[in-house]
Amino acid sequence: MGVEEFRKHGKEMVDFICDYHANHLQEAPVRSNVEVDYLRRCVPASAPEEGEDFNAVLTDVQRTVLPGVTHWQSPNFFAYFPANSSYPAMLGDMLSSAFNVIGFSWISSPACTELEAVVLDWLAKLLDLPPAFLTVGPDNTKGTGGGVIQGTASEATLVALLAARAQKLKGRDAADALKLVAYTSDQAHSCVMKACMIAGIQHVRVLPTSAQHDWALQSQVLQEALEQDEQQGLLPFFLCATAGTTSSCAIDSLELLGTLARQHSLWMHVDAAYAGVAAICPEHRQAHEGLHLAHSFATNAHKWLLTNFDCCCLWVADAEPLKAALSLTPVFLRAKGNALDYKDWQVPLGRRFRSLKLWFVLRCYGQRKLQEYIRHHIALATSFAARVRSHPAFEIMAPPRFGLVCFALKGQGNEVNKALLESLNQTGRVFLVGTELGGRFTLRMAIGSATTQAHHVEAAWQLICQHAEQMLANGQH
Ligand code: PLP
Repeated sequence: MGVEEFRKHGKEMVDFICDYHANHLQEAPVRSNVEVDYLRRCVPASAPEEGEDFNAVLTDVQRTVLPGVTHWQSPNFFAYFPANSSYPAMLGDMLSSAFNVIGFSWISSPACTELEAVVLDWLAKLLDLPPAFLTVGPDNTKGTGGGVIQGTASEATLVALLAARAQKLKGRDAADALKLVAYTSDQAHSCVMKACMIAGIQHVRVLPTSAQHDWALQSQVLQEALEQDEQQGLLPFFLCATAGTTSSCAIDSLELLGTLARQHSLWMHVDAAYAGVAAICPEHRQAHEGLHLAHSFATNAHKWLLTNFDCCCLWVADAEPLKAALSLTPVFLRAKGNALDYKDWQVPLGRRFRSLKLWFVLRCYGQRKLQEYIRHHIALATSFAARVRSHPAFEIMAPPRFGLVCFALKGQGNEVNKALLESLNQTGRVFLVGTELGGRFTLRMAIGSATTQAHHVEAAWQLICQHAEQMLANGQH
């Protein structure tokens, strides 16, 4: 494809995207209803020998791809946590594709590295993160910490864990690696366990939580585990606390856990994949009390901050342990000076120019619009929770937090609640997912799609009531 063809098709693609957003998203079932392996039945078994016309490809997107897309950008998408996109972010991402630099080291593309450091400082300030996380602090001097964009919160957790391991094992026998213990709660994301699997951590303590404490990890539970492990000669090294768990958005007390972590020389990583960006609003910063005690903190701009996947923002208070864990420089990559080389802050070597899309978002919306955006979703979730509370057939299953409301049919078993969820999703008019809290199946209403308005939430609530009433009337309980 030549440049003039690209100019033409690029415009057609923008039209396609606009139509997708303006029309298709409003009508299509939110959750795709295709059967497994549907796609193989509609495409040839092999790639074409000769290049095809671009419009033929686009036609096949309509015919074969769109039916199998679950529409995360639908205003009626209430599943998982949101995965926002926005036009400024898409345009920034387009530019990133066009430059297509591989910014592993400063010299491999100075703007790629420098914009990332600047944009993460900007975001850290917007979220009021502790100054230790900034690359350039308030007094204009470079500190030991800084921010880096990872693909996902899972990668951020892994990288933090590897840094913690390097720090703990420094100057010790290699055999001590077998004594390392990592701690987290039974509400933490499975990525913590996965990071431990990858890093070969032999001892992982998944500590219990309870409804009584709103599913937050209690510091005395951690303390008992630490004392037991230390008595047995093990080496506690890492704690992953969560500020906004996936199931119910529970918030671990960073102040209490962080104090304990410091006393026992643990690295505390805070996983705030979803909820972290809410701190852009001063009134939603309670979850971050005690964050100054954390060694690392991650939040996904690609969840609830209008930035297309992938854009997980990770900050560390001290980058040295990260580099100790991840820096390896063959001759052909050797650079002069002390420039920032982000290859030493991540697992892969290559990296995209991801800060562009976040920069576009921060500049095109600005602090005030982003605050309004977060407040809008929280207000919608608050009014949805009030509707649930006031309905005699339903109960709230965990304190509603940010955009998430966990609820279930009161006095009904798990099968009835699962059936309610499935009957809602089968309509194609909404998409929600469930979780289990204390053995009870729970529906999760996660409000945070970029175009969700009050009338979408109201329509979802009416649909939920209608299906619940029908099920209860039909005696499916
Ligand atoms: N941590 C938490 C608290 C999450 O809610 C999620 C996903 O929803 C993750 C980690 C994993 O996110 P990612 O897909 O960015 O690895």
